[in-house]
Amino acid sequence: MKALLIEGPGILEVKDIDMPTVGPSDVLIKVKIVGIHPQDYYMAKNLTTQGHKINPMPHIPGEEIAGIVEKVGDKVKSVKKGDRVIVYHRIHDGTCDMCITGHEQLCRNGGRFGINDNGGLAEYIAIPERNVIKIPEDIDWEIAASLPVSSLTPYHALNEAKLSAGEYLVVIGASGNTGMFAVQLGKIFGAIVIASSRKDRGWLKEFGVDYVVTLDNLEEEVKKITLGRMADVVLDSIGKETWKKSLSVVGTTGRWVTFGALTGGEFEDEPLDVSPIYLYRFERKIIGVRGGKKAELHRLVNLANRIRVKTWRKYKLEDAPKAIEAIMSPDRDGRIFVETN
Ligand SMILES: [Zn+2]
Repeated sequence: MKALLIEGPGILEVKDIDMPTVGPSDVLIKVKIVGIHPQDYYMAKNLTTQGHKINPMPHIPGEEIAGIVEKVGDKVKSVKKGDRVIVYHRIHDGTCDMCITGHEQLCRNGGRFGINDNGGLAEYIAIPERNVIKIPEDIDWEIAASLPVSSLTPYHALNEAKLSAGEYLVVIGASGNTGMFAVQLGKIFGAIVIASSRKDRGWLKEFGVDYVVTLDNLEEEVKKITLGRMADVVLDSIGKETWKKSLSVVGTTGRWVTFGALTGGEFEDEPLDVSPIYLYRFERKIIGVRGGKKAELHRLVNLANRIRVKTWRKYKLEDAPKAIEAIMSPDRDGRIFVETN
């Protein structure tokens, strides 16, 4: 089968390799489409991402996977050949305390397909049954490949922040891979959504956001919209360049949520500068989230037909290196996908 391989720092090639072996509890998926992330670019360039060394080498990247079941192992019961599926990309043992309490994303022995094991930028991938989720026929493929990471992460973030109907939600980087789903999920939660985007993205209004503001005027704009009360929940996954600004718009009892630094920084270099007074005087909370729970991904599948995706470019598997290069393009306006079959 054909697969994209990271063979060394910056060395990406599409090659013919052996089909993956399918164990008794595995599902062989004919990959249909993979969503590309800045993470893929950094891994290809540095062979590490946020402290994780990619494994194995050569390495098949691709974290956000949707496809069709080609074959199942003897013990597999939940899916059969021909089913449309997505991959919950968190590797988890299902037996540790975190897994048992429903926090598979924090598994003590966990990792991620595409980083700690091979990912989906190939014609086929073998995945344990516990990571495979069946989806209905009527979900668009680009939406399907936007559920496991791009939508799940902000969905988990909004759940952890306990966003309520009528609250003000500010999304920093609203036109990005997770941002475009954060704003839509914010509307589904019943919030008033303020989208901050570096560039003028007219399409965000079509995605249901109530206000589009620029990062430069964030504080003033949020003050005006909220009559000086500021935001109830702020999502910021961009990195140190936006943290100061986004922290400035968190209101009394507000929750500031982060799930990483998409600008690619390593966290040791990016301490968050917050005074305890900033927190306790106004009962603000700072929340960190990582991916999402498997149960949440199941629920997201049920919301899939209420979510839209803005696609910028689609590539074929042979051109996957170009897709990974393009994810960092300053002109990017929407998602990048690789169609593998
Ligand atoms: Zn576990």
